[in-house]
Amino acid sequence: MTSPITRLAPSPTGSLHIGNICTFLLNWVIAKQRNWKIVFRMEDIDGPRKKSIAIEESIDILRWIGIDWDGEIVIQSDRIDAHQEMLHTLIEKDLAYHCSLTRKELNTVLSAPHETFSSKDPIYRPANVRLHNSSLPNIQTNWRFVSERATHVVHDELYGAQICDTSHDFVIWTKDNSPTYQLAVVADDHYQHITHIIRGNDLLQSAAWQELLFEAMGWETPTWIHLPLVIGSDGKRVAKRHGDSRISTYRSRGVSPERIIGLIAMWTHAQINPIPMSLEKFLHSFDLDKLQPNNIVFTKEDETWLLD
Ligand code: GLU
Repeated sequence: MTSPITRLAPSPTGSLHIGNICTFLLNWVIAKQRNWKIVFRMEDIDGPRKKSIAIEESIDILRWIGIDWDGEIVIQSDRIDAHQEMLHTLIEKDLAYHCSLTRKELNTVLSAPHETFSSKDPIYRPANVRLHNSSLPNIQTNWRFVSERATHVVHDELYGAQICDTSHDFVIWTKDNSPTYQLAVVADDHYQHITHIIRGNDLLQSAAWQELLFEAMGWETPTWIHLPLVIGSDGKRVAKRHGDSRISTYRSRGVSPERIIGLIAMWTHAQINPIPMSLEKFLHSFDLDKLQPNNIVFTKEDETWLLD
């Protein structure tokens, strides 16, 4: 049996906020409790222009909280050749095709009467993929994956069986000549021998597309644990409109890692009241079985306590 490996895969999109840290912390704790190896991948393909600063900042914040990992950091943008190889394999298998439809044209196609659309393959898919691919357009185009299933069931450790819509041929390579998140993440998870993926529930639908890609490549699919997101009192995902919930800001305002961990411990039922908690104590107190699948609300009172 292969030994379990999970990964921390932040995107260097500026500074990590309380929601990101909650996910990474739970990922780390679950892995440590189960004696899994934890590797690290920086998903910088769509990152900001000043990538190296954002990368350094993300690493610094994770280390400040106390999160560690095994081995060298893999930088996703260093692996473009491997991503390209995956695209070529899918093309050879007639499972990818170039598609020059613009977003607008595609929307028109997709908003066509439902009967037309659901009764057969996506109507933008060429009838003969191999023949279609044998002549390449002279402009760069997107490449789409041939999704052979209308729905796909993802089995998640927290959310159970989830029926996902996989009826659209999703883009795996963009006309800017770069891999999409869906393709890159699968190529890299396979490369890093990832057996268990723990991340926010906003990526549950992506798990279905990713499973199709794993299967198409003949690679083993990982086990999934999607986690509740941290949302504001308005029900929306924590973002700038809720104030500045970046960890770097809290840190500069004197908030300790123990306070952040204490709040996450309360959110995840590892303690009843918000009391600062060490990483070591959280490691022993957290219990995935007590975690509720509904999203976590970051209230004004929580923030006041954090800054107290
Ligand atoms: N890089 C993504 C993020 O920071 C995570 C992708 C994944 O875990 O598959 O949200």
